Amino acid sequence: MTIAKPVAFEGVGLHTGAPVRMVLHPAPSDHGIVFRRTDITDRNPRIAAIWDRVTPSKLCTLIENEDGVSVSTIEHIMAALVGAGVHNTLIEIDGPEVPILDGSSAEFVAGIQAAGLRALSGALRAIRVLKPVEVREGEAVARLEPAASLVIDFSIDFADAAIGKQEKRLNMANGAFVRELMDSRTFCRQADVDFMRANGLALGGTYENAVVVDGDKVLSPGGLRHADEPVRHKMLDALGDLALAGAPILGRYVGARAGHAMTNRLLRALFADPEAWEWETCSPAQAYSLPGAGVCRAAGLAAR
Ligand SMILES: [Zn+2]
Repeated sequence: MTIAKPVAFEGVGLHTGAPVRMVLHPAPSDHGIVFRRTDITDRNPRIAAIWDRVTPSKLCTLIENEDGVSVSTIEHIMAALVGAGVHNTLIEIDGPEVPILDGSSAEFVAGIQAAGLRALSGALRAIRVLKPVEVREGEAVARLEPAASLVIDFSIDFADAAIGKQEKRLNMANGAFVRELMDSRTFCRQADVDFMRANGLALGGTYENAVVVDGDKVLSPGGLRHADEPVRHKMLDALGDLALAGAPILGRYVGARAGHAMTNRLLRALFADPEAWEWETCSPAQAYSLPGAGVCRAAGLAAR
């Protein structure tokens, strides 16, 4: 599947605070998700959204090509794409960071739904997880295990009472992302905001596009969109970071206190072990169990 026509988004980058315009274009089968920096003219401006182009970063997911050209904070648009059924698109962007918009994937999904999808010829391949693969860091764990289709199981535990312990598990088939996760926003603590600002980060962050908490208080006006919005957002991030596998994953992802860097380490561990996964050509029934199937109106029936 690709989008039926171009769709544009404008906003500011969460960390740079700089205005940016981004346009999603239709792309052919097997193109994948590729960014193209339209402001770069002296080097290769194309950056494939794939796991081995990820540069570790605690705060966001950043991809960089062999010429050192990068684009950051890609996780929410990546989640929106796979969560709405788009596997192939060329994303033109005129700056180094994806716009944060409302801090969730909701506006991206709305734009993709307005554009609609177009079915492509050629079979859709998926990555079947064959055995458990796990990475750990202190108390944080990220794991992939065999399952019929993608399941995301996440737990977090924060000292701030406004977040506390939260866990949620979702089978991602049949639009679960759009119904349950897409509108959950990035969250952080007021102390993190102070630290990031002091280090020239989060310059585009506001109390509207991030849930900011301090102890037992939610400082963002209007409060939370869901009682467990933080863990839902972690699941959104996980879907976006797993999309960097380059194809849909058939397996169960378990994250405990995990973040962007750990999910990327997990993908690296999966692909480093040839016995841990295999390519599988999706049957029509399998294609219909993928996260974005049935979310958008489509010009064709085949879920490719
Ligand atoms: Zn996020």
